[in-house]
Amino acid sequence: MTEAAGPVAKRILVTGGTGLVGNAIKKVVADGEGQPDEEWIFVSSRDADLTSAAETKALFEQHKPTHVIHLAAMVGGLFKNIRYNLDFWRRNIHINDNVLHSAYEMGVQKVVSCLSTCIFPDKTTYPIDESMIHNGPPHSSNFGYSYAKRMIDIQNRGYFEQHGCRFTAVIPTNVFGPDDNFNIEDGHVLPGLIHKVYLAKQTGSALTIWGTGKPRRQFIYSLGWVPLQWEGWGTTATLQEPSAPPQDLARLFLWVLREYDEVEPIILSVGEEEEVSIREAAEAIVEAMDFRGELVFDTSKADGQFKKTASNAKLRRYLPSFQFTPFRQAVKETCTWFTTNYANARK
Ligand code: NAP
Ligand code: GDP
Repeated sequence: MTEAAGPVAKRILVTGGTGLVGNAIKKVVADGEGQPDEEWIFVSSRDADLTSAAETKALFEQHKPTHVIHLAAMVGGLFKNIRYNLDFWRRNIHINDNVLHSAYEMGVQKVVSCLSTCIFPDKTTYPIDESMIHNGPPHSSNFGYSYAKRMIDIQNRGYFEQHGCRFTAVIPTNVFGPDDNFNIEDGHVLPGLIHKVYLAKQTGSALTIWGTGKPRRQFIYSLGWVPLQWEGWGTTATLQEPSAPPQDLARLFLWVLREYDEVEPIILSVGEEEEVSIREAAEAIVEAMDFRGELVFDTSKADGQFKKTASNAKLRRYLPSFQFTPFRQAVKETCTWFTTNYANARK
C-alpha cells in the first residue's frame, strides 16, 4: 500500500497489482507520480480470489476504494490460450463481473479495466480502431479470453446507461517489460524468447522461434523510465535517466484514471509504423543479449493471428506529444532486468 502524502481524496485499488502491468504502475507511483491526495492499494490473488463473489465483495468492503484500476485476469501467450480457452472464458467472466458489480455496489467513482488488441475480429480492415471490437469473431486461438474481455465493454455500457457509472477500459497492444511472466510454455512471445535466448546461451544451443516468424505485432513497454535506485531491481543499475523521460503504458494508465472521461474504450498503442514481425522482435532480443547462435523456426507450431494492427489516432488526439521508449531500448532494458533478476523472475 502507498500512503497518501496529504488528505485522501482518491483511494485507488489496483487488482492484478503483482503482475507485469500492476508492478509497472506501482513503480511509477513510487517514483513520485502518485499525487498527494491519492492512496494506492495494490492487491493480488493472495488478498482475494476475484473469481469468488464473496471474496471480491469483502475486498471492496475492506478497502472502500473510490477508484479502481482492474488488471486482474487469467493471462497468457498464444499457446496457453490454445490449451485453455474454456478456463480463460470462465475465470475472466467471473473476475470481471465480480469486480465491476462490487464497484457499482460500493459506489466507486471510476473503474479503468483492461482489454487487449487480440480481442478484435480476426477478419477485419486495418488499422483497427475502438469502434470495431464487436464486428466479428476473434481469432479462434484465443476465443475464450477475447469474448470474456469483450464483455467488459458491454458491462461498462450497461453500468453507464442504467446506473450512470463511469466505468471505462483501455485496449493495450502486446505488453512487455520487467516483472513479466517469462514462462516459456505459458507466457507471451517476448518474455518467452528472452528466456529461451538466456538458456540457449548457457547450453550453446540454437534459438527456436515458434511458427514462421512472419506474424506482426505492436509491442508497448510497460514501464518507461524509473529511477536507478528502485529497490526491487537489485543490482540493475544500467538504466540512464533520459533528458525527457518517455512514458509508456504505466503512465498512460495514470492519465486515463485522472483525465480520460469517456466510457468508450481507448487503444493504447505505439504507431502503426512501429509494428514488427516476430522475426524482427527475436532479432532485437538476439542483439540485446549478444546471442551468436543459430536461429531456427519451428513451423510445426502455430502462428496465431497474423496481425492486429491498431490505430493510436484517438490517443494522439488527446496526447499529441506522448513519447514511447524506442522498442530496441525497451527490449534491452527488459533483457537486462531478466538476466539480473533471473533467480526471482516469474518463469
Ligand atoms: P499478469 O502479469 O499475468 O498478472 C496477472 C495479475 O492478475 C496478477 O497480479 C495475479 O495475481 C492477478 N490475478 C489472476 N487471477 C486472479 C484471481 N483469480 N484473483 C485475483 N487476482 C488474480 O498479467 P499482465 O500481463 O500484467 O496483465 C494485466 C492486464 O492487462 C490483464 O487484464 C490482461 O488481460 C491485460 N493485457 C495484457 C497484455 C500482455 O501482453 N501482457 C496485453 C493486453 C492486455 P497473482 O500474482 O496473485 O497470481
Ligand atoms: P499473441 O500476440 O496474442 O498471439 O500472443 P504471443 O505474445 O504469445 O505471440 C504469439 C506469436 O509469437 C505467434 O506468432 C507465435 O508463433 C510467435 N512465437 C514465436 N516464438 C514464441 C515463443 O517462444 N512463445 C510464444 N508465446 N510465441 C512465440
